Amino acid sequence: MKFLLESNLAKLAKWLRFLGHDVKVLEGEINKEELAQNQDRVFITTSKRWEDTLKRVDMRYLIVPRHDWELQLCMVVKHFNLSPELALNRCAYCGGELLPVKKEEVKDRVPPKAYDTAYDFTLCPRCGALFWKGTHYEGMVRMLEKALNRC
Ligand SMILES: [Zn+2]
Repeated sequence: MKFLLESNLAKLAKWLRFLGHDVKVLEGEINKEELAQNQDRVFITTSKRWEDTLKRVDMRYLIVPRHDWELQLCMVVKHFNLSPELALNRCAYCGGELLPVKKEEVKDRVPPKAYDTAYDFTLCPRCGALFWKGTHYEGMVRMLEKALNRC
């Protein structure tokens, strides 16, 4: 799905990208122009203040609680019936679509310890970030499971 997130939802943005969704994060305050330009996206906000405007412009939205990314993620996944699987096909930082890359090609960018055990290397063509699966991956699976049990 395509989402537009309020600027205070950076952690939620990261996790929705882990699940494979197209997430754009507002850089500053919410404004009407920005909302109008992104009407094809579902708007996620912590503020009720814009509810009337959102209804008027017929934009889909969800209001989530502040400061609790686990509960936010849980609500978004359940509300929109999203697949609770880590897709890991998008850059956590910029949302670019990741491309597989050979481990040997990025050797100089990976700590030696991780290099020996890591797998599934991917590169973001948009911002250059490098990702791989390793011991942290199982931790992410557990974090996701815990978050999805919050609601
Ligand atoms: Zn990127």
